[in-house]
Amino acid sequence: MASLEASSLEQHIEWDTPLFLMARAQFEQALPFADVSPMVIERLSFPERALIVSVPLRRDDGTIQIFAGYRVQHSTVLGPTKGGIRYDPEVSLGECAALATWMTWKCALLRLPYGGAKGGVRCDVRTLTLPELERLTRRFTSELLEVIGPHTDIPAPDMATNEQTMAWMMDTYAMQMGHVVPEVVTGKPISIGGSVFRREATGAGVVMVTEQACTRLGWSLTGQRCVVQGFGNVGGVAASELHEKGARLIGVSDISGGLHNEAGLPIPELHAYVAENGSLAGYDACERITNEELLELDCDILIVAAREDQITGMNAGRISAKLVVEGANGPTTLEADAILTARGIQVVPDILANAGGVTVSYFEWVQDLGRLFWDRDEIRIRLADKMTDAFDRVWSVSEEKKITLRQSAMVAAIREVAGALEVRGIYP
Ligand code: NAD
Repeated sequence: MASLEASSLEQHIEWDTPLFLMARAQFEQALPFADVSPMVIERLSFPERALIVSVPLRRDDGTIQIFAGYRVQHSTVLGPTKGGIRYDPEVSLGECAALATWMTWKCALLRLPYGGAKGGVRCDVRTLTLPELERLTRRFTSELLEVIGPHTDIPAPDMATNEQTMAWMMDTYAMQMGHVVPEVVTGKPISIGGSVFRREATGAGVVMVTEQACTRLGWSLTGQRCVVQGFGNVGGVAASELHEKGARLIGVSDISGGLHNEAGLPIPELHAYVAENGSLAGYDACERITNEELLELDCDILIVAAREDQITGMNAGRISAKLVVEGANGPTTLEADAILTARGIQVVPDILANAGGVTVSYFEWVQDLGRLFWDRDEIRIRLADKMTDAFDRVWSVSEEKKITLRQSAMVAAIREVAGALEVRGIYP
């Protein structure tokens, strides 16, 4: 017990970066309501394992360039770890540690038999050609061989990675094993064991919980004035689903900036434009605004689906939405969270709102292990059941304990992991 009290919480660890400290502060804010033992708190405060690799890439011109790669596994209490691989100039050990921690809570909240992981390569994909990306992915996968596997750690796509990236990862792993192993990654193309509806799952899940929140708040989703930041896998699909359900999309944005039209934006036309031009850059059939202005637009529902750190102490006081839904991971800083709460703006937290992706990833893994595949309707129904069940638990803990949705989602998640950790105990 003495060594537990000389808490490692006080030590400075390499992943103690602002994003990781934010993930840990969210954990600590939920603890007073979670009723778990000091052993559980201590054990779940840090990732179990982290790997840093340097990945050499032969560029098309023959030169060699070295990239930093990471994989962090936060908890194996409930099962193998699960989490995305991102290619981004900001990827770091601290970022991966924070994102891996959130993945643990997300999987636990959805009652999936996984812990959290996250990884990536620090690079800017816009400077790499397709053959370079393939070589980088295959070499990065080789570097991860010791720590990934269908029963140890199962990667999935994240920022700037996609089905093709997962296909290269799966093929590289299969070549090393000598047989095909579709269940080593999720988010693969359907032709090699991917699941129907995986690509749309995160964005669709975001809209499922948005609809549930509207119902609880006594609103109808139809006609709500919505703004979506990020027009990629999550934001792009969420915008389409909202559009199909009759909501009015008055603003959307991507890295190139924002678009605004009070009368509603033509979402299918914007998708066609992005498919042809690569981004929203240059689209001028409506008012162009900056991403900063987009976040502050007067609207009913704001979906932040781009990246972390978007609603901060600087702009939280000017957010005009009545409901914020976190499609991205960690888009709201602690300071901003407190400001939004004080202003009575409900925030549906990331670990609930964007859990549709990992839930259908879990369905994909189960289908691959069983070599038996489900159809789109079945997956959509199963996803809706899981999201509704989690949403209801979060909402009722929030009402019962008079805490924010983020705190109640964390409480529900921590309790799932704590229950398993208590009965498993600490080895040896
Ligand atoms: P993506 O790369 O497909 O799309 C990201 C979008 O955000 C792009 O349109 C990009 O241009 C835009 N963007 C980037 N920086 C921006 C900025 N500063 N301002 C405005 N727009 C910006 O990535 P994604 O898969 O949609 O992931 C987005 C977020 O959702 C990330 O935080 C990711 O971790 C999270 N997430 C993704 C999934 C998934 O299944 N893809 C699941 C859970 C969570």
